[in-house]
Amino acid sequence: MTELDGKARATARANIALAKYWGKADVALNLPAVPSISLTLDGLVTRTSVRFDRRLESDVVELDGRPATAKEAARVVELLDRVRAAAKASTRAKVVSKNRFPTAAGLASSASGFAALAAAASHAAGLGWGLRKVSSEARRSSASAARSIYGGFAELPAGKKRANGRWDGFLPAKALHGPDHWDLRLVVAETVRGPKKVGSTEGMERSRTTSPYYDAWVAEAPIWADALRAALRRRDLPGVGEAMERSTLAFHTCAITAHPSILYWQAPTVAVLHAVRELREARGLGCWATMDAGPHVKVLCAAEDARKIRAALKKVEGVTGTLVCKPGAGIEVA
Ligand code: ADP
Repeated sequence: MTELDGKARATARANIALAKYWGKADVALNLPAVPSISLTLDGLVTRTSVRFDRRLESDVVELDGRPATAKEAARVVELLDRVRAAAKASTRAKVVSKNRFPTAAGLASSASGFAALAAAASHAAGLGWGLRKVSSEARRSSASAARSIYGGFAELPAGKKRANGRWDGFLPAKALHGPDHWDLRLVVAETVRGPKKVGSTEGMERSRTTSPYYDAWVAEAPIWADALRAALRRRDLPGVGEAMERSTLAFHTCAITAHPSILYWQAPTVAVLHAVRELREARGLGCWATMDAGPHVKVLCAAEDARKIRAALKKVEGVTGTLVCKPGAGIEVA
């Protein structure tokens, strides 16, 4: 066994899936059942520092300026354990992480959180992992975290089986285009604050086991991902927007029709959806909506339309805040 004494700090940004991720092919390996395509966002930043210290008897995890809850700490320790196993070490670590946006509210804090943690912990342990390995290990903790390793637009393929019929545990995201490929904006309309009632993993498993539409979702999701990837390449905003909305509504249909039903939408979520249609149909503005496992709505548009769209969304009843995000960079480690 080696003793570790390294430290590192990593910055990662959350990402929003444009082609949505919902459903696991294998729960233990955390392999997605569908491909997803994302946009990494400039404004939603997590900073995480990891310091291995032989004097510690157990890992210490601080999240947003307070001790992590047992459940939060367990997810962090699980990743640290994988890093320690790779380094053949048992040294405990102190982890300090800050999300500069609401945690566990459907703004993808787990994506930036576990991307930053995988990068900082592996670096502090001196493992010299490349981006693909960091991405695959981040995915084990949170599938969307695999995509936050890369800036701009990234894709996480669905899980694959090896020739022997077993699931392949190595599955990184891949970079599609850097942040400079396309100067898009994502206008976030925050609605109801507070942690969501059903976590993503639980929601996905309930959808898989009880929704009559789950198989249809898994069959259709790759078609929308293909359409979205092609539209992204040619910078076709209506093409990306339509594929994103269809993918979003299909995944929420799966969640809503699970039993017991999972309804992440609140009244203002629906009000924003109508406002987006109105902006598109009556005012001719190119804007399309997506929602993750939470009540907020994220609206994709061209940079030049973001100001008008934000002003319109601010007026929707129940919208408590708005935020405009640009394409952001991948992980940075110091
Ligand atoms: P979200 O929509 O914010 O990703 P999830 O419920 O999917 O919501 O994930 C939130 C969970 O991710 C938190 O409860 C916590 O366990 C973990 N998490 C969030 N931020 C961090 C962080 N910076 N470092 C480590 N874990 C984090």
